[in-house]
Amino acid sequence: MNDIPRHPLAPPLHLDLCDPLLAGRFDNSFVRELPADPLQQDFPRPVRNACYSRVKPTPVAAPELLAWADAVGATLGIARPDSATGAAAEVLAGNLVLPGMQPYAARYGGHQFGNWAGQLGDGRALTLVEVIGADGRRRELQLKGAGRTPYSRRADGRAVLRSSLREFLCSEAMHYLGVPTTRALSLVATGEPVERDMFYDGNAQDEPGAVVCRVAPSFVRFGNFEILAAHEELDELKRLADYVIRTHHPELGAPSPEVYARWFEEICRRTAVMVADWMRVGFVHGVMNTDNMSILGLTIDYGPYGWLEGYDLGWTPNTTDAQGRRYCYGRQPEIAQWNLLRLAAALSPLIPERADLEAGIDTYVRVYGECARRNMGEKLGLGEFAAGDDALVEELIEALHGAETDMTLFFRRLADLPLDATDDAALIAPLRAAFYDDGDGDHLLPWLRRYAERLRSDPQGIAARRTRMNRTNPKYVPRNYLAQLAIDALTAGDASVLERLLKVLERPYDEQPEHEDLAARRPEWARHKAGCSALSCSS
Ligand code: AMP
Ligand code: MG
Repeated sequence: MNDIPRHPLAPPLHLDLCDPLLAGRFDNSFVRELPADPLQQDFPRPVRNACYSRVKPTPVAAPELLAWADAVGATLGIARPDSATGAAAEVLAGNLVLPGMQPYAARYGGHQFGNWAGQLGDGRALTLVEVIGADGRRRELQLKGAGRTPYSRRADGRAVLRSSLREFLCSEAMHYLGVPTTRALSLVATGEPVERDMFYDGNAQDEPGAVVCRVAPSFVRFGNFEILAAHEELDELKRLADYVIRTHHPELGAPSPEVYARWFEEICRRTAVMVADWMRVGFVHGVMNTDNMSILGLTIDYGPYGWLEGYDLGWTPNTTDAQGRRYCYGRQPEIAQWNLLRLAAALSPLIPERADLEAGIDTYVRVYGECARRNMGEKLGLGEFAAGDDALVEELIEALHGAETDMTLFFRRLADLPLDATDDAALIAPLRAAFYDDGDGDHLLPWLRRYAERLRSDPQGIAARRTRMNRTNPKYVPRNYLAQLAIDALTAGDASVLERLLKVLERPYDEQPEHEDLAARRPEWARHKAGCSALSCSS
C-alpha cells in the first residue's frame, strides 16, 4: 500500500508539526467561544467571570524530544519529527508558539480529599491549540510543565522527567488496554533542572525537567463547572455547558434543561464505564479529586497512580493518602459517585429538577453495577453471570486477601486452570507465579475447587473460554517498577527501556513470549523502593 504512488493533488496525510499547511487544521474554539480573563499576565491571582486565561508557555533551555507516540501522531495527522532537537521539539517544549495557536490555561476549582479547595486551574498545563485530526475529529494539544500561569499559586509551573514519563507511558498503556483516557503525543526534556522535595522531608533536590504534550478532545473537568457555580457565575456556567454539549455531544441537540439533564446522565454513564475499567485492570488513580475528573469520562491527570500488584482493596499508591485511604483501589467506585454528586450540585442551576440529577446518579449506580458484573464475568470466563456467581466473586475477593497474590498474573493464569486435575497441586500449578511469598496457595484451594466445579457446568469449550478471558485479563500492564526502570534508564540517557515497554504495552492482551520478563510479578527489591510502591504528589 505504501508503494502505491499518491495522486499529485491528494493532500499529504501527515504533516510536520511546523508545516504552515498544518495550521489549516488548527482551531481555538474554547478560546473563541468562552469568556476570557481580561488580564494577560501570568502572576498568580484569583480569576473571576472567565473560563480561561490566555498565557504563553515559558521557554526552556534545551528542548530534546525523548519519546513520540506514532499512533497519536497518526490520528492527528502529524508526522514524527525528523530530529530530536528541531523546531518540533521547540514547539512541544513551549519555546515556539506557531501561528494559529492561542494558548490558554483553564480556570477550575475542585474538591480535594473531600474538601472544597477553591480555585485551582491549570497551574502548569496549557492548551496550545485544537487540531482537527486525520479522522476529522477535534483534539486539544496540551503541554504539561510548560511554565507558570495565573493558576500556579506558589508552585513553579514545571514537571519532572519521572512524572512526565509516567504520564506518557500510562496514558498510552491505558488506551491499548481499552480504558477511556487522555493520550500523549510527546515527551520532551527541557534541559533545565526542577527542584522537588520528593519525600516531603525537607531534602529538596534538582531533578531533570520535562514537558508532556497530552492529547484529548477536551481537558475540561468537573472542577471547571464547580468554580463557576461556587462564585455564582451562572452565565459563564451556562456558556461552558453549552460549549461542551455543542462541541462534544452534538447528538444531544440544542441546549435546554432537558438536554442538560441528558448530558449529566451521559457523564454519569461514561464515568461508570471508566471506573469499572480501572477496577478490571487494577489501576488506582491515586488522586480522584473533582479537578481530576474529566467531563468526557476519560482517565485524566496521571500523578501518583499505581497498578495493583498484590490484590488488596485497601491499597493506595499515594503516600499523601496513606492514612485516610480515600482513594484506594476498592473505594474508587464510591468516590466517583461522590464526585458526580459534587458535579450535580454545580450543574443544579441548569438542571432545576432534583429528580433529573438523581436520575443521573442512579444511572451511574446501575451502569457501574452492570459493567462491574460483566467485567468480572469475563475475567472469570463465565459464559453468563448465573445465580450464585455473586457469591463466587465475593469469596474470591476474600480469598485473594488471604495471601499476597498478584492480580494481573492471577487472572491471566486462571485461564490455564486444569479443570480435570485430580489433585490440588496440579489444580493450582498455573497460579504459582502469582504468589508473592512463594506460599503454596492453599488459601485459594477451596475457592478454586468451587470455581472449577462451576466451569464444568459451563457449555463453553476450554479454548474458547481462554480466548475470551485473555481479551479482558491483560498479560502486560505498566507495573510500577517497570515504569521506574524506564525512568532510571532514560535519566541515564537510554530511551530503549521505555521504547520497549511502549511497544509491548500496545498489545497488552497478546502473549508476546519474547517479553515474558515484563509480565513477571514485582521483584522483591521493588517492594519498598520509592517510585515502585509508593508515590508522592511531588512531581
Ligand atoms: P494535581 O494534584 O496534579 O491534580 O494538581 C492540583 C493543582 O495543583 C492543579 O491546579 C495543578 O495545576 C497545580 N499544580 C501541581 N503542580 C504544580 C506545579 N509544579 N506548578 C504549578 N501548579 C501546579
Ligand atoms: Mg490535576
